[in-house]
Parts: sequence; structure tokens; C-alpha cells
Amino acid sequence: MLHHFDEGDLVSVLTTQPLDRMLDYKAPEGGCFQGAFVEVPLGPRKVIGVVWDKGEGGYDLAKVRSVIRVLDAVPMREEMARFLTKAAEYTLTPMSAMLRLATRSPGLGDPPSMRVIYRRGTVDAPDRWTSAREKVVAVLDDFGGLAFTLKELAEMAGVSTSVVKGLVAQGVVAEEQSPRDLPYPRLDPERSRVALTDEQSGAARTLSDGVESRRYGTTLLKGVTGSGKTEVYLEAVATCLRAGRQALVLLPEIALTAEFLTRVEDRFGARPAEWHSGVTMTERRRAWKMVAEGGAELVVGARSALFLPYRDLGLIVVDEEHDTSYKQEDGVLYNARDMAVLRASLNDAQVVLASATPSLESWANVEAGKYARVELTSRFGEAVMPEMRAIDMRAESLPSNRWISETLARAVRVRVEADEQALLFLNRRGYAPVTICRACGHQIGCDQCDARMVEHRFQRRLMCHQCGETKPIPAACPSCEAEDRLAPVGPGVERLAEEVAGLFPDARVAILSSDLFGSARALKAQIEEIAGGGADIIIGTQIVAKGHNFPHLTLVGVIDADLGLQGSDLRAAERTFQLMRQVAGRAGRAEKPGLALMQTYQPEHPVIRAILSGEEEAFWRAEAAERKAAGVPPYGRMAGIVLSSPDVQEVFDVGKALAARTEPLHRIGAQVFGPAAAPIARIRGRHRVRLLVKAEKSAPLQQALSAWIGQLKYPTNLRLSVDIDPQSFL
Ligand code: ADP
Ligand code: ZN
Repeated sequence: MLHHFDEGDLVSVLTTQPLDRMLDYKAPEGGCFQGAFVEVPLGPRKVIGVVWDKGEGGYDLAKVRSVIRVLDAVPMREEMARFLTKAAEYTLTPMSAMLRLATRSPGLGDPPSMRVIYRRGTVDAPDRWTSAREKVVAVLDDFGGLAFTLKELAEMAGVSTSVVKGLVAQGVVAEEQSPRDLPYPRLDPERSRVALTDEQSGAARTLSDGVESRRYGTTLLKGVTGSGKTEVYLEAVATCLRAGRQALVLLPEIALTAEFLTRVEDRFGARPAEWHSGVTMTERRRAWKMVAEGGAELVVGARSALFLPYRDLGLIVVDEEHDTSYKQEDGVLYNARDMAVLRASLNDAQVVLASATPSLESWANVEAGKYARVELTSRFGEAVMPEMRAIDMRAESLPSNRWISETLARAVRVRVEADEQALLFLNRRGYAPVTICRACGHQIGCDQCDARMVEHRFQRRLMCHQCGETKPIPAACPSCEAEDRLAPVGPGVERLAEEVAGLFPDARVAILSSDLFGSARALKAQIEEIAGGGADIIIGTQIVAKGHNFPHLTLVGVIDADLGLQGSDLRAAERTFQLMRQVAGRAGRAEKPGLALMQTYQPEHPVIRAILSGEEEAFWRAEAAERKAAGVPPYGRMAGIVLSSPDVQEVFDVGKALAARTEPLHRIGAQVFGPAAAPIARIRGRHRVRLLVKAEKSAPLQQALSAWIGQLKYPTNLRLSVDIDPQSFL
């Protein structure tokens, strides 16, 4: 039970301000509950906070100010407070930052009221179309039935509010009074259930039993693409809804498509609450409130949906659990997969980790008996896993500046002529990764970062993939000033598209690369068009690997299967293995069998051989043995420390000072490596230095890290970030 404080009682309040402690206030008139969201004075400002506990006291009480007001929001539940505390301890994040993650809802404390909303009206077209009017209608049509405030609609369309008002006058846009924050429609767990196969229903039964137990448990749901994992976990969601508890389905942002939401809607008869970057502020606020009040039964969202204030969360599904985008790489450095397990364990909830190619972490947790595992071994219906073959590039004589072998080109031609789709996969954005001067050998780099600029021909610019800085392609070499001697080296997807256009002049070619689209929504729209048959040849970066259906696709050609094997990243082999299998899994999803061809210069490399043979368990065991021997995750623990500063001397000095005071780490048997210049030694003008800490799995790493880092006082322009279980080593 949450404690109630009487008026005037001393309470300690956690605010979203970057302070390293809680602040004491007096409870307001009428008192307040522990967990209440409140507004408090801080200097001249008013800020939002949560009543965390009773006050500390111990100073002049006459000076303590009062809480201004209690906000109209459900108080934070105890388990949420515990979740934030544990997540903060695990990731070494200040509590204020955790609270910011948990309160990403505008107008949190505003009272319920009526508001004016805008949606598509009954009149089809205005008397006269202008481009501004077209934009407004396009936004409304894009979002289906969603309503907007005037400001939101105008901003999203990039027009002034008077354009919207003009359309209202003509009935093209409707203006309505609507209560804020309505509950989401009830979902019907019995609606349109499919007849599961024996294997699927066994898996669904296991997951449902877990949900019905009302106890914590994590299950790995492994199955090849198209085996019905989604059908199966939606059954577990149905069980959760029947039990009257809330469910959360997490997906990588890019997989949160209209197609997926429609599928959920078809299954349960209504749309779930959504939580991702494309959700409007109005919907965000509604989702946050309704999740807290129980007016949202199911949330489908990206990783931050984990921090919503669920009233009674019974199930978390993490789909594509191996996906690296679950790791947030700026701000609070957390892995949503691991945090989902933490949250569920505090909530007597179940976790389902779904993947065709699980992370080694999850695989090892199954081996260790911590997670259960259910498996779907075959694709649904007629579809079979594609055949996989290597193309030995040593035997293909490719002219320079060509990347598609004769063997691969022949296979593509067959597909195009049969009206099927072919996908060429190359995990490199842009036209060419390097631009070199043929006169002096100079490679064009970014002024702000220690990185080479990548040519993007469609934009006619060079771009830095670290900081996003762009500049025009110069006519003369910036180093030796020779004219017209700059040349692109190596392929990116744009350059590959040029080669494809030469080889298949009549084919419709589509490029899927995140930088070619203004928004995640535009990209998703393009993916859907392609899935519907809108292209013959698809050229894509890794975004194509992420759980999307391309029913007409029967051939996947991997341009450079060796690309991922070169990195120094400890997960290089695992990533290559997963990515290649995911990409290959795109082929042959409907009734036609698929083929995956991988161009490689090292067909006898163990990773390539494991991919081709499909002997997954053998691959995992070999990979696990190597990691175990090296004492690295998941068999040991790691933390990455990145120091950055505009001052190169300072950043190395601090790194050395830290390396000279490692006593707290040695006490737990941890090793420290570095300081060393980070692989990308400069980003946005800040010099970067890394230290790496390695410890045994059972060592109390976080405490030791805090003690270690706490020994120094840091210059104000130096930033220090601690990354527990780092995924990225740049
Ligand atoms: P996964 O999530 O493993 O990729 P899906 O659940 O998306 O697999 O299933 C692949 C396709 O097969 C989907 O179109 C799905 O609707 C269909 N499907 C899977 N199982 C069944 C079933 N038992 N009955 C009817 N359709 C099914
Ligand atoms: Zn840069």
C-alpha cells in the first residue's frame, strides 16, 4: 500500500532535473500519496516530480517550500519505483534521467477536458487545390482515422494554421469537440483465432500456461521466419487479456509498420495503443494516461514503451529479440531486452523473446536453465527455408568497379523474367564509402570526426555517418589541389543500383536505405509498396532484414558476405550469422521456394560454413566456447567507459588518472584496459578515449565502477559515459 502524507509532512521528491539527489518539500493542502506526481518550486521555476518517500529533514524546516499541486495522474506504483531504481543501479544512470524516461508524456498533469480536434471531413476536395492544402489532406489520409490538434496538424503538414482553417470552412477537414484521453476500445481475445498447427499450439499452450501462472518467467520462442511466431505469441497475448492483465509487444522501430498494427487489429478487433516515434503528442499523452488507468489493454511499441506506467502488466513480448536497436546508444544506455526481463520479474509477469536467430545471451540463458525455450521448426504451409549457396568470388572474374558476379546476375535474370522479386543485400549506405584522390592518395574525411566521408550521389554530397555533417563533392582535391582526380572507391547501395540499372535496364529497381527517406513513416510506406509487388529488384541495407514480409521475393543475393566478419567487435561472428540468416529468410515466404546466394572470398570461413549448412546449434556452441574461453559476455561482464572532450590533452589526462586508480576494480578481480583512443577518435569535434573493464560474471561490477569513477572530480566540459554490457565498441 502506498503511504499517505498529511499536509505539512516532509516529503522527498524526485524531479526530472539533472540533480544527483532528491529534494525535500512539505506535503500540500489535502496531503498526498507516496508516488504522487507533483509540481514543485525549484528556484524560480516549477518542475515536475514524484513524491518518493518521507523527507530527509535535518535542517531549518521553516525554509522548506511546499509542493505546489498534485497532478491529475495515477500515482507511480511501487513496482514502477522499484523498476526505475533497479534499472538505474544496473545502468549506473541518475534517477532523474530514469524519471524522464518514465514521464515522456506531454501535459502529464493537465486535467481532463474537452479539446478541439481535426480529422478528415465529409467533402472530398476543396474548390481549388494548392500544394499546402494537398499536404494537409495527405497527413490526414496517411494517419487513417487519427485526430490532431490544430497546431499538430499544421506542423506535420508544414503549413500555417490558416490553411487548415480554410479546409474546415469547406468541409474537407472536420473540426470537432472531443474529450481528451479516451480509453482504447476493448480488445476481443476470441476474435479471428487461426487454427494453429500441432507444433504451434503446443508452443502457444506453453506460453499461455506461463501467463496463467501469474508468476515471472522468460521463454525464448525460436522459429524460422514465417513459422508462425507472431501467431503464437498473439495467443499468449489473448490469454493475458482474458486474465484481465495488460500486455506489451515490443518491436524494433522499423518493424512497427501499419501492416503489423493491422494484423493485431484483425486478430483482436480493435487497434491497440501505439508507442513509437511516429505517434503524435496527443496520442502519446492518451497512451500514457490510459496505460496507467487500465484503459489500454495492449501496447505495441518501441523500446521506450517499457517505461510506461502499466496498471497490471502480465506479459512482455520482445519480438526480434536479437535486434541491436533494442540497445539505446545515447542518453540512458539500456538494453530493452534485459530491462523487459527485469520489469517482468518485479511484476510477476512473463517475457517472451521471439527470434529466428536469438542472441547468444538468450541462447546461453536457456542453456543455463534461466529461460525456457519453445521452438517452431518449420515454416507455415508450403513455404520452406530457402536453399543457401556460396558464390566463390575467387572463381568469378569481375572487372573492376563491378560487384555483381556473373552467377548472381544470371539468377536475378531468371527471377525478373518470371515476375518474381530479387533482393540484393549490401550493408552500406550511400554511393561509395571512400573518395580518394588519384593524384596524391588523400581520402576525404570529416572535419569534425575521425571518419571518412561517404559519397551520397542522390544528394550530390559527401556525408559523415558519425555526425551527419555533409559537404558538396569538391572538384579539386583538398590536399594536393589536383583537379578532377577524385574517385569513388568501393560500393554502397546507390552505386550498386547503377550497376543493376546497367545489367537489367527494364527492371523496376527500389533502394531501401534509411537515409533515403525523410521519416520512418515514409520508409515503412516504401517497404509496403515493395511488398505489394512495386519493384522487381530490391537493393537494401540491413533494414530489409527486419521481419518484413516480401511475398514475391524468391532470391536473395548477398553482395559481400565477408563484410561483417572483419570487425574487431566481439559479436562480429554472431552478427554476421544472424544478419545473413535473417536476410536469407526473406526469400520464399509464400508458395514459391527461395534461394539465397552469398558472394564470399572465404567460403571455408567457419561462420560462412555454419550459415550455409544451417547447423545453428553447432554454430552457437562453437561461438559460446570461444566467448567462454575469452571470459567475455555472456560468460563474463564488461563495461565500456567513454570520455570525451574538445580538449585532447585533457581527455587523455583524465583517462590516465582513472587508469592509475583502479583499486576498487581490482578488489573485485576486474581488469581495466586503456585508456586508448576510441576507434572513432573524434566525433563532432569531441576527442574520445575509451577504457574497457572486464570482470567475472558474478562480480559486483556496478558498485566497483561507481567507487572507481567517484574518486575523481571531472572538468566541466568533459563527458563520461558508462556503458554496461556494451554492444558497440566504437
Ligand atoms: P513469424 O512471426 O515466425 O515470421 P508469422 O506468425 O508472421 O511468422 O506467420 C507467417 C505467415 O503464416 C503469416 O502470414 C501468418 O498469418 C501465417 N500463418 C502462420 N501460422 C498460421 C496458421 N496456423 N494458420 C493460418 N495462417 C498461419
Ligand atoms: Zn563527422
